[in-house]
Amino acid sequence: MNIGIIGGGISGVYAALQIKELHPNYNVEIIDHNDKLNKKIYATGNGRCNFANSSSLEGKYSNPTFALPILKEHTYEDIIKYFNHIGIPSTFEGNNAYPMSKCASTVGLMMEERVNQLGIKVKLNTKIIDYKTNNGGFIVHTNNGDFKYDKIVIALGGKSSSQLGSDGSGFELLKKQGYKLTDLYPVLCPVKTKENTKLVDGVRSQVVLSTYSGNILLNKEEGELLFKDKGISGIVVFNATHYVNIANRKDITFHVDFVPLVKGRIKQDDYISYVNPKLAKYLIDNKLDIHNTVFTFKDFYDFSVAHVTYGGLSINEVNDSLESKKEKNVYFIGEILDVNGICGGYNMMWAFASAYHVAKRIEI
Ligand SMILES: Cc1cc2nc3c(=O)[nH]c(=O)nc-3n(C[C@H](O)[C@H](O)[C@H](O)COP(=O)(O)OP(=O)(O)OC[C@H]3O[C@@H](n4cnc5c(N)ncnc54)[C@H](O)[C@@H]3O)c2cc1C
Repeated sequence: MNIGIIGGGISGVYAALQIKELHPNYNVEIIDHNDKLNKKIYATGNGRCNFANSSSLEGKYSNPTFALPILKEHTYEDIIKYFNHIGIPSTFEGNNAYPMSKCASTVGLMMEERVNQLGIKVKLNTKIIDYKTNNGGFIVHTNNGDFKYDKIVIALGGKSSSQLGSDGSGFELLKKQGYKLTDLYPVLCPVKTKENTKLVDGVRSQVVLSTYSGNILLNKEEGELLFKDKGISGIVVFNATHYVNIANRKDITFHVDFVPLVKGRIKQDDYISYVNPKLAKYLIDNKLDIHNTVFTFKDFYDFSVAHVTYGGLSINEVNDSLESKKEKNVYFIGEILDVNGICGGYNMMWAFASAYHVAKRIEI
């Protein structure tokens, strides 16, 4: 059996490993246009790779009815166990799992070493252009020639942070093959606000951020907010973008408490004692309440700075095995599917779990 893994990012490499662990006699080959495997993993978690999370999965993903059973089949504990098996011991900060080295490169290099140990073939600097069916199998057409496989696993990622390889060409390929995609938006990214934030660009503050669609509270979270020239950023804002997308980006406001530890009213003259003086001046000049400053959503920053893509291949295009409903022996995993999660290891868990799900079923 010849299996082509189309895209050698986080889900593609994990799928290749899991297929080969389960079926040592299969020929598994990974194709990627980058000059190294798993390029994105080296940038994850600020270079530390927050690869999983031990807290509940509920409320953390888009399309949860579809995604959660797949995620529950290969849990964070299974991922940690497998990582341990291939020489990546892990550690936790709260519920967030990291490699013990706190270096994403440990994960990238050890996964690659296992790829070599298992005899998985890798074709780098090879851009996938399209594929065609051929005598029950497939011919994958690339800039480096044509390759034949019995089954293919499409793991081309989204269109965010394209400098790491996921340039959206996967979506173009699927459109050409006649697949239905949902609308695509940046997610886990900074947001542009209607209010001018240029004067506080670069200021950081520990806040409680409440995100609303109309008067419906979408999410409330404590963490660091970072002002940008055109809006706001930081993990709390990144997570907010997930819920903003789920609410279809309608009538969104962000309510910020800049001093959550202090209850009760603070006089404007005293703001300077509680927050960065630049921020204090900004709040006073604009007559804003330090406990409840409202920013209005204008847009997301663009895909180039987004960690993830919201939307993708419609989940209605695949069956329970993540196999195409219209093309037998074509499977989809990772971010190319219309599933994504909040920050904290949830997106890599989806990449791993969807890869494992296919590895378990590909022989059937
Ligand atoms: C800066 C950053 C930090 C992140 N940090 C975290 C984190 O700490 N924890 C977490 O859970 N998630 C994190 N994420 C999200 C996570 O990395 C992604 O969700 C995950 O990589 C998705 O896996 P994937 O295999 O679907 O896509 P990718 O890992 O993007 O892989 C897709 C692969 O396909 C290849 N490809 C695309 N088109 C073609 C083509 N036409 N021909 C050949 N090859 C092609 C690309 O080169 C790429 O290698 C982060 C993302 C970014 C950008």
